[in-house]
Amino acid sequence: MTTKLAFLVKHSTAMGARTGFLTVNGHQVATPAIVQTGSVIGTLTPGELAECQTQLIKVNVIDYWRHFGARLPQLGDLHRLIGWDGVILTDPGAEQAYRWAKPRGRKPSGVHFHDPQTSEMKLYTPLAALRGQAVLGADIMQSFARMADYYAPVDDLKAAVTRTTNWLQEFSLPANCLATIVGGGLKRARQANIAALPASVAGYCIAGVASMVPIEEQQRLVEEVITMLPSGGLRYLPTSGTLHQLFTMLASGVDLIDSDLAGREANMGNALVGGGHRLHLDRGHFAVDQRPIVPGCACPVCQNDISRAEIHQLLIHHQPLGERYLLLHNLFTINQMVSAFRTAIMANHQTEYLAKLGWNPGQQ
Ligand SMILES: [Zn+2]
Repeated sequence: MTTKLAFLVKHSTAMGARTGFLTVNGHQVATPAIVQTGSVIGTLTPGELAECQTQLIKVNVIDYWRHFGARLPQLGDLHRLIGWDGVILTDPGAEQAYRWAKPRGRKPSGVHFHDPQTSEMKLYTPLAALRGQAVLGADIMQSFARMADYYAPVDDLKAAVTRTTNWLQEFSLPANCLATIVGGGLKRARQANIAALPASVAGYCIAGVASMVPIEEQQRLVEEVITMLPSGGLRYLPTSGTLHQLFTMLASGVDLIDSDLAGREANMGNALVGGGHRLHLDRGHFAVDQRPIVPGCACPVCQNDISRAEIHQLLIHHQPLGERYLLLHNLFTINQMVSAFRTAIMANHQTEYLAKLGWNPGQQ
């Protein structure tokens, strides 16, 4: 099956934020949008994800490749396999492969590593990564890249770029494949990577910006990389950070961004509420609070009038349903916030939107 990916920028602001329209395999997604990652996908059903307005999920292909190897095509299409009819963005899992590999496992042909479960030695190649994503029916794929830590020595970052660009020239990327850009915080390394990209790529994955990189540095780097990219390409940042990081990156002109925030906040007993605030529902004063998490919220939990008191009880007695309730509410809330941010960008009010959340431009 040939996958078609089309991306159209609808409105760009002088500050960099923009809205757009992504069409892939019959799915239509308004951007900026979140790519859902993390515990949410293993906890909520596909129906619940959709009910909370999730449109894109990320699936890491390396685990399927490790378990099934040459039998991977027998698995068939992931949408059918997991029951998800939204967009699937796949991650080839290069970062894991490089984390598992010893320094001498970084080969010109790919990466050699001992499988963490079976100890079997495996060679994961750029071609295996591309084929794996294709046979699993990915809507949006990413090219394989030689990963290096954000703060890696300059030589290591340069080596990562050289190998990544060699592979980009060796294997032509399918029409729905984003080109992965590496190079840590080194401007000339990122420039060299971008200069080597074929003109026909559908979009760009700005890799290697770990969530622990300070937000000012993330913003500086992402904005610097964006100025080097053709404006029509889709920009994807596979970094999952705080709510502040998420909106700062979207305000900088990122179209798609990872988020596992709903799950992380739920795991801490937190419910996200308006204005970027949160309720710590495991605290004692919620024990007799009969209100829903947010009165008027249209999420499945608040719509069913589940009380803060009930969620508090479930949380303090470690009942999994308590965290699930928070997950559903948080996921819906974040998706609603991103939707409102799209509207704000269209009206050139993105700065006012961020200020309402307590984040002024330039203030970190
Ligand atoms: Zn709610």
